[in-house]
Amino acid sequence: MPTITTAGDRCRKTYSCVRHCPVQAIMIEEEQTRVSYERCVWCGDCVVHCSQQARKLERNVDDVHAMLRGSDRVTIVLDPTWLLSFPDITPSQLEQALLRLGFEHEFIHSEVNDSNR
Ligand code: SF4
Repeated sequence: MPTITTAGDRCRKTYSCVRHCPVQAIMIEEEQTRVSYERCVWCGDCVVHCSQQARKLERNVDDVHAMLRGSDRVTIVLDPTWLLSFPDITPSQLEQALLRLGFEHEFIHSEVNDSNR
C-alpha cells in the first residue's frame, strides 16, 4: 500500500515535490510524478511543499491501534531511516516508547546504537 499518494487532479505540475525531495525519490513519467519507495525516506517534505495539497501522507494509525488492542503479539520492523524522522531521540528511547505502546519487544531496528549519536 503506497504511503504517500498524489491526487492527480490536484497536481498542477509545479514539481516542487521533485525539487524538495532530499533523496531524489520522485520521478517524472509522462508529466506525472511517481515516488520510488526504494529511495523514499518518508521525510514528508514533498507533502509539506506541495502548494496544491496534491500529495497526501496516508496514515494507518487506526489500523495499528486496532492491532495493539487485539490479542495477537505485534512486532514492529523499523527501516533504518527512522533516524531522519526522529532526529532528537536515541534508538533506546524509541525502543522504550514502542514497548510502552504495546509492541512486542522482538522488533528489529537499525544497527545504529546510542554510541553512534
Ligand atoms: S517523503 Fe521525502 S523522501 Fe519520500 S518522496 Fe517525499 S520528499 Fe522524497
